[in-house]
Amino acid sequence: KPIIEMQNVSYAYDNNTNASSVLSELTFHIHQGEFTVLAGANGAGKSTIAQLFLRAKKPSTGIIKWKDHPLPSWSDHQLMAQIGLVMQNPESQFITERVDEELSYGPRQMGWSEDKRSSHVDQLLDIVNLSHVRDHNPFSLSQGQKRRLSVATMLINDQELLILDEPTFGQDAENTEELMNLLKSLQQQGKTILMITHDMGLVEQFATHMIVLHEGRCAYEGNPISFLHSP
Ligand code: ADP
Ligand code: ADP
Repeated sequence: KPIIEMQNVSYAYDNNTNASSVLSELTFHIHQGEFTVLAGANGAGKSTIAQLFLRAKKPSTGIIKWKDHPLPSWSDHQLMAQIGLVMQNPESQFITERVDEELSYGPRQMGWSEDKRSSHVDQLLDIVNLSHVRDHNPFSLSQGQKRRLSVATMLINDQELLILDEPTFGQDAENTEELMNLLKSLQQQGKTILMITHDMGLVEQFATHMIVLHEGRCAYEGNPISFLHSP
């Protein structure tokens, strides 16, 4: 069942002197519960798509639907409660000075009790393996830890679509494995994952659905294994 539908979506940056669109009549689906990989060369338009989903940008033409309803019919609050993004640079999203406060910030805004907050924070720190640095400054964490903290922030807010923009870029093998195993277990628990990546090794191992962009157009959508083994 599609959770996101892109129907003939085009997008052009206003200041793009080159008249061609960054995205051209893109049609694809993100299915609930799947681990979708969005692949394509640098500049293909992948980050732009993530920004469209969060309404940081508006499509020039076409329709994007979230759960059968066009994006404009949802409030910002409703969308933010359901869709989470880990940017290429996760630290640009940090807002507090302690790892545990970073996690309790959202629940405090939502008025959770102190007890409920702290038990959820403890549980999540454990899941993402950050309990030992709970009193550290988020900015002082390693790259891998920063990404796991961003993922935990999405989990405490119980967002159901998790979008990750090149989460393994510049990470060592151990961090990559830890993050990928975390994402896989989240998918098995019912979360929908959309990961932007260049790494075809990860696609083969983890993806259940694949979308390939080429110069702003959808060059492939379907089974990752058929794509990887096509001549
Ligand atoms: P990243 O690749 O780290 O996501 P950006 O999203 O900032 O970096 O930029 C992605 C691509 O868009 C880069 O190739 C960059 O040169 C280009 N770009 C960013 N801002 C502009 C702009 N204002 N005008 C033209 N191209 C831009
Ligand atoms: P990807 O994430 O696949 O690397 P992007 O979505 O970042 O691609 O960029 C797609 C295209 O849009 C690139 O050609 C890039 O140069 C252009 N672009 C990105 N940001 C801007 C911007 N702010 N202004 C103009 N062009 C941009």
